[in-house]
Amino acid sequence: MLVLSGGTGTPKLLNGLRKVMPEEDITVIVNTAEDLWVSGNLVTPDIDTVLYMFSDRIDIDKWWGVADDTFRTYELMKSLGHRERMMLGDLDRATHIIRTEYLRNGYSLTDSIRSLSASMGIKAKVLPMSDDQVATIIVTPAGKMHFQDFWISDHGEPEVLDVFQEGIGTATISPAVLEALGTEEHILIGPSNPITSIGPIIGLPGMVDILRKKKVIAVSPIIGNEPVSGPAGKLMQSKGFPVSSLGVAACYREFLDVLFIDERDTADESMFADLGCKVVRADTLMRTREISMDLSRLVMEQFNA
Ligand code: GDP
Repeated sequence: MLVLSGGTGTPKLLNGLRKVMPEEDITVIVNTAEDLWVSGNLVTPDIDTVLYMFSDRIDIDKWWGVADDTFRTYELMKSLGHRERMMLGDLDRATHIIRTEYLRNGYSLTDSIRSLSASMGIKAKVLPMSDDQVATIIVTPAGKMHFQDFWISDHGEPEVLDVFQEGIGTATISPAVLEALGTEEHILIGPSNPITSIGPIIGLPGMVDILRKKKVIAVSPIIGNEPVSGPAGKLMQSKGFPVSSLGVAACYREFLDVLFIDERDTADESMFADLGCKVVRADTLMRTREISMDLSRLVMEQFNA
């Protein structure tokens, strides 16, 4: 199975999926538009969450960073007047240093993640969506800012006028992703932010045409009229989508076959027919690994239906 992922909702689902199917049969295409250079190292937050989840090191409370990490380097640098744009843990930083060393030695991002993944003993294939640089930019009344500055420094508070991906028009789908798409017919879009996590992946030139030929199943990150977490609601609104599972279906309307919505969602199923997608209700609020496993089984049933 091929899974499109951001860095919170989909990794939770992957954590169940890898228990109900062989991990080596899972390929994850991960968003890179939230990547950022911090103190000389490239940080790839969504990829790292996926790597830490597969290697059982993820901080399960926050869904970012390494469990039981410390922040001594970050705090010391802060006391010396060097405030980093992201709060990086000491153990987490090791990943950024190694990845950046690979890049400096001429590796592509794909190859650097392949090497890190192998060192961590991960059997799934974890693939950056592109080797080219793409950045999600938030347009606010005060001007444009990188997504990470909007979300971390400004706590997601500024009014959002628009969102766009800088560099997307000239970025290419990585060769490894193209190869994976060439052999896999089942595509799962996990419950990730449709605008900032999945948006950049499907925005790569040629991706929508490829997805149209596949069986695509998505899990809604919106339950009722609220995202489970994060700024998806505000960002969907800025692009003119309603904040609802129907709005999620609209984001993916060009290729979506089946949308999993939460059993508590009161959306009218007949509304989805116009968007050409079938709706399946399930418990999608992944508070435990068992719930992620149950949801994964239901997704697999739908692929085989
Ligand atoms: P980011 O890269 O950290 O923004 O993470 P993602 O885009 O992968 O995930 C954020 C999205 O996941 C948010 O829109 C949440 O609403 C959604 N999400 C998080 N946990 C869950 C969950 O347990 N169930 C569902 N359905 N959605 C979730």
